[in-house]
Amino acid sequence: STSFALYYQSRKRHRLTTNFAPRPIELRSDEVLSGVTGLIGNTPLVRINSLSDALGVEILGKAEFLNPGGSVKDRVALRMIDDAERMGLLRPHTGSRIFEGTVGSTGISIAMVAKARGYDATIIMPDDVAEEKVKALKALGATIERVRPASIVDKKQYVNLARQRAKNFGKRDKIDASDPTANVPQLITSSSSSLVVTTTALHVGFDMEDPQDNEEFLTKPRGYFADQFENRSNFDAHFDGTGPEIWRQTNGRVDAFVSGAGTGGTIAGIGRYLKSMNENVVVALSDPEGSGLYNKVKHGVMFDRKESEGTKRRHQVDTVVEGIGINRLTNNIDLALPIIDDAFRISDAEAVSMSRYLVQNDGLFLGSSSACSLVACVKLVRRMGWAEGQRVVTILCDSGNRHYSKFWNDEYLRKANIPIDPRIVEDLLQPL
Ligand code: PMP
Repeated sequence: STSFALYYQSRKRHRLTTNFAPRPIELRSDEVLSGVTGLIGNTPLVRINSLSDALGVEILGKAEFLNPGGSVKDRVALRMIDDAERMGLLRPHTGSRIFEGTVGSTGISIAMVAKARGYDATIIMPDDVAEEKVKALKALGATIERVRPASIVDKKQYVNLARQRAKNFGKRDKIDASDPTANVPQLITSSSSSLVVTTTALHVGFDMEDPQDNEEFLTKPRGYFADQFENRSNFDAHFDGTGPEIWRQTNGRVDAFVSGAGTGGTIAGIGRYLKSMNENVVVALSDPEGSGLYNKVKHGVMFDRKESEGTKRRHQVDTVVEGIGINRLTNNIDLALPIIDDAFRISDAEAVSMSRYLVQNDGLFLGSSSACSLVACVKLVRRMGWAEGQRVVTILCDSGNRHYSKFWNDEYLRKANIPIDPRIVEDLLQPL
């Protein structure tokens, strides 16, 4: 019929420019993987076509939202629990419980890996975090405690509370809480693992020299404070995992790495790995409004283990970007600071507009920290004057489906006076 002829003609015309053969979908892995933790890591690297085409520079995103727990934090949760087991601090199926203070993603990952490994989880978080994260935690069987946002110097701050809860979990009643040995080291290094176990045992009222106590201690329920901010396993997950994956996937052709920092584990671990392979790799930070990191990196503004005065209450800074930004020094930030070459302060309007632009042009539905980092990628390319095939890699930490109540809620943004304006992105992409 005529219509068939027309269809055939148009198809033929189209063939001149388009490859019509459907491409087979390649499997991420040919192996049968063991349990949900087998699905963690080995994420693909994806070219962000709209930005790459506009810039002439390849912008590549590590698709961490494809992890089974929905974010990059699955890697960290798995590594922290693996390391704790290796050191004898956690034993599966003993009624042991993992405690963490977190704004969300890490809690979800810990709750998931905990169940897969035979533990329970208690997650303590501020009460102003997006509701969908709380729902996910509940579904994963975690015990949730929501507290008023507070400064890190406050005992009731969520990280401090998690530390305290873990410390007191499984304690023998006869032991006095003011016991001077009640001091469990927070940063655990493998060289001191036996010391840590002994100190933990002493603290909860067991004497490792006593064979009966020793036996009982090994099988009793433990409380373990995961402590992503200070825990070296966080850094190691990226230095040993995500970093090498990126190096392999780019065949070592990477000019820059861009990331935000919440705990600093991602930027420190990946940044240090890439620089160890090629010292010329530029490491750039994307920092949301209200975070002190940008001023630290660019202007050397004081940064210490407590929150510096004036930025004490970051939660009160009206930002819709969740999971990145910090105002105090932690072990993992400490590892990150020396290798950060450049930093960008990204406004809520820029991050939000980028997220809408990416849906419109690429069909990519991303979370707030990913959008923030992609704005920083574009700014870095412009600042470097790159225009001919360089490669910038960033982390797509989580998907938009974790952010319906704030970042992806147009009504919320309108009330908060945060414009959604595609011209913001188009301006950034304008040729110089
Ligand atoms: N993006 C999201 C969504 C996060 O939850 C986090 C972690 N808080 C980050 C980015 C930052 O990663 P890191 O803690 O390794 O600095």
